[in-house]
Amino acid sequence: MKAAAFFPATRSLQVVTDLAEPQITTPTGVKLRMIDVGVCGTDREVTHLTIGYPPAGSEYLVIGHEGIGEVIETGPEVTGLKPGDLAIPTVRRPCTDPHCRGCRSGRSDFCSTGKFTERGIMGIHGFMTERIVDEAEFLNPVPAELRHAGVLVEPLTIAEKSLLQAEQIQKRLPWGLDPAQCNCVVLGAGPVALLGALALRIRGFAVAVYSLEREPNPMADVLRAVDARYFSSQECSIEQLAEALGSIDLVYEATGAARFAFDVLRSVSPNGIFLMAGIPPHRPAAPYEIEELMRSLVYGNRCICGSVNASKIAFERAVEDLTAIHHKWPDALRSLITGRFPMERFSEPILQPTGIKNIIEITP
Ligand SMILES: [Zn+2]
Ligand SMILES: [Zn+2]
Repeated sequence: MKAAAFFPATRSLQVVTDLAEPQITTPTGVKLRMIDVGVCGTDREVTHLTIGYPPAGSEYLVIGHEGIGEVIETGPEVTGLKPGDLAIPTVRRPCTDPHCRGCRSGRSDFCSTGKFTERGIMGIHGFMTERIVDEAEFLNPVPAELRHAGVLVEPLTIAEKSLLQAEQIQKRLPWGLDPAQCNCVVLGAGPVALLGALALRIRGFAVAVYSLEREPNPMADVLRAVDARYFSSQECSIEQLAEALGSIDLVYEATGAARFAFDVLRSVSPNGIFLMAGIPPHRPAAPYEIEELMRSLVYGNRCICGSVNASKIAFERAVEDLTAIHHKWPDALRSLITGRFPMERFSEPILQPTGIKNIIEITP
């Protein structure tokens, strides 16, 4: 069986052809024929050795964590999935520590030991291969109409988990997180940011995306099509942005640019929430006025919430939202996928990313 693999010892990306086809070994196992697998910055970081490692005893890691596949076989105790159905696997698998409350509650996205594994990233092979086997509990059914867009579900779950937390946290306000009274700013215009903007728009929030690139650019075109606004940080200061919007009640940060993020944080309105999903690179510490930051958090009831990974609940919401987006803005959704590559060329979009979202077609 063919698979797209990363060899850490030589830091090389190669298609391997000798991977054994996985077999169902439990009554609740499911075998999928992979259709599409998305490429993202995490794959690039794996090749930079910043994160990730192969399974024990393997000299390579099969990469790919944003996958959609078709069920071709199920164990005798599987319910809710049958051959022919489309399914999307979650990425993280729980740690084995009996004291980890997150993993023992079925919420490995809140794992507190850090000893979890992740398919295609940490210690387990990923989805950029012809067939995979996984437990039914880690698979999410998707409607057949999402066959060509379903690969966007996993990157959308990052925003969905953040939003679920924002909804919980803003219950502290008597009026909650009311889309009619909440101006949202998304930082960044990469796929995770744009999908976050779409998730907010489909829920009726006013959305402005604030990012580096000047207009015209394809990301701003996508946003215009869904009635979201676009502001370039090269043409509009944070103060001008705050003035243009009137208030900034929710920020979804998806750039990992720490200085930029904390500068925007100063303009968040009282009672606002700042969701951090981007991961900054390791750099020498930069000075920051922490007294002013702390004063602003306390006096303004402002809240910062970090969010990583996503649970099955976030996957279910992502499938629901992507279906609604597919119905309402089919062209905007389609225009997010800008490159399709065969497995033989999988290294190209990882090493030289272009466009918005690139995917590897496993089954064209
Ligand atoms: Zn990803
Ligand atoms: Zn855990």
